[in-house]
Amino acid sequence: MADAVVVGSGPNGLAAAVILARAGLDVEVYEAADTVGGGCRTGEVTLPGFHHDLCAGAHPMAVASPFFRAFDLKAHGVELLTPQVSYAHPLDGGRAGLAWRDLGQTVDGLGRDGRAWNRLFGPLVRKWEDLVALIMSDLRPPPIDPTGVLRADPGIELRLLRRLIEQSTPLWDMRFREDVAPALLTGVAAHAIRPPRSIPGAGVSLLLGTLAHVRGWPVPRGGSQAIVDALADDLKTHGGRIFTGHRVDSLDDFADVRAVLLDIAPAELQRIATLPARYNFALNRFRYGGAACKVDFALSGPVPWQAHGVDRAGTVHVIGSRAEAVAAEKAVAAGRLADSPYVLAIQPGVVDPTRAPAGKHTFYTYTHVPNGSTEDMTEAVTAQIERFAPGFRDLILATHVRTAATMPAHNPNYIGGDISAGEVTARQTVFRPVPRWNPYATPLSGVYLCSAATPPGPGVHGMNGYYAARHALRKEFGVLTEPLELLTDHWRI
Ligand SMILES: Cc1cc2nc3c(=O)[nH]c(=O)nc-3n(C[C@H](O)[C@H](O)[C@H](O)COP(=O)(O)OP(=O)(O)OC[C@H]3O[C@@H](n4cnc5c(N)ncnc54)[C@H](O)[C@@H]3O)c2cc1C
Repeated sequence: MADAVVVGSGPNGLAAAVILARAGLDVEVYEAADTVGGGCRTGEVTLPGFHHDLCAGAHPMAVASPFFRAFDLKAHGVELLTPQVSYAHPLDGGRAGLAWRDLGQTVDGLGRDGRAWNRLFGPLVRKWEDLVALIMSDLRPPPIDPTGVLRADPGIELRLLRRLIEQSTPLWDMRFREDVAPALLTGVAAHAIRPPRSIPGAGVSLLLGTLAHVRGWPVPRGGSQAIVDALADDLKTHGGRIFTGHRVDSLDDFADVRAVLLDIAPAELQRIATLPARYNFALNRFRYGGAACKVDFALSGPVPWQAHGVDRAGTVHVIGSRAEAVAAEKAVAAGRLADSPYVLAIQPGVVDPTRAPAGKHTFYTYTHVPNGSTEDMTEAVTAQIERFAPGFRDLILATHVRTAATMPAHNPNYIGGDISAGEVTARQTVFRPVPRWNPYATPLSGVYLCSAATPPGPGVHGMNGYYAARHALRKEFGVLTEPLELLTDHWRI
């Protein structure tokens, strides 16, 4: 019998498993799918030789998170390729906003709003490690952090708060005089799948917007699968075992295991365990939110963007003006399909020629839809891209769609296609999934949640797994060593 079992092999499950195995425990991982990686897998879903990221495609959080900085993906053979333009935002008339990795270049390109952009992001960029420590914390101050790496400089809280208030209220237009910079910012806020002018939208735009000018928004050579494969390999090196194609249907299977860490959605926990009524009631209040319909394209050439510079961006937000982005996200929040949908696109071929046969390209998109939507958005996405890249349609060799309704068959964590494993509201950021001082612990002895349904929420950063593993090590095994120290000797870099 293993010392610890992890259910689910997404980035958080594997992060937890790596930490537990490196602490000397005998660890087993059970994964429902036939391959490891959860929301970080890559597959040939259109044509042979075209490698598509099936969920996560861009990795600003993986290069910035304390867990991955300590794990050191590069040392584990993962080559992170960073586009010169982190993200672009085309507008009608052949114009575009470009967020260069270099903040100065971005400021120069934004004309009269360049200084406003610099004042918004400059102070956060200079203190990015503190910003990351704060936003990727378990949101339970004061952090138990003997090492200092997870403790944010108190000054950052004020800077973030001022900007959060500004960007989540009618003040959000105040600093800008033209239309490009506001649209550029709103394209990032929309990642939250919430109305962009909201606390979650502002938080996401400030974090990801800052990271765009620090370590960029890289894509791994060969696909996102490289990240989870590196974790899985490290786990095996430290004696861990992974069982794929094994969906866990009852926690009773692990009654004799000292620690069980669950990289699963709260609804799945309710399905596989008998829970005390009060906790069960609290989990019933946890809301699943707006969803994604994923459309992947195999193309005969690069996307013919009309606006200069968009062809150098890894990620492109395709919607048009700030007002259009707001309208699209409001429609989804109200349970309707947007007339003109927000499309998040990634063109890995900008930096990674290995994703497709020579001269050809993979093109990654998803668009936001109401939870549970059965709508195939392929035509709506194609039309939106064509609007800013005339001729796009003629390059399409093949497409593959995963509707929101079919998303749970690919990954049971995405209830109704909610790719955040639970709506990202202000309440559900702090109380994730329930109001509890230790959100990772459950009322079941030795059972912990470690998925994106816990703080600090979704994304490929491994921090949910890290926090859950830290609690389990302390409580179940009396191991007080800081987990980041288990990962490498030089994790402070
Ligand atoms: C379309 C899409 C695009 C995204 N884009 C990005 C992006 O560009 N950048 C980014 O950082 N993040 C992105 N994300 C979010 C990111 O993928 C997730 O937040 C992240 O993968 C969460 O990791 P996790 O380990 O918590 O869960 P997951 O990665 O979802 O893994 C959970 C695993 O648990 C398994 N599982 C569930 N129940 C059981 C069970 N009962 N028994 C056994 N196994 C089970 C599942 O099969 C799955 O493999 C995207 C997500 C999606 C879906």
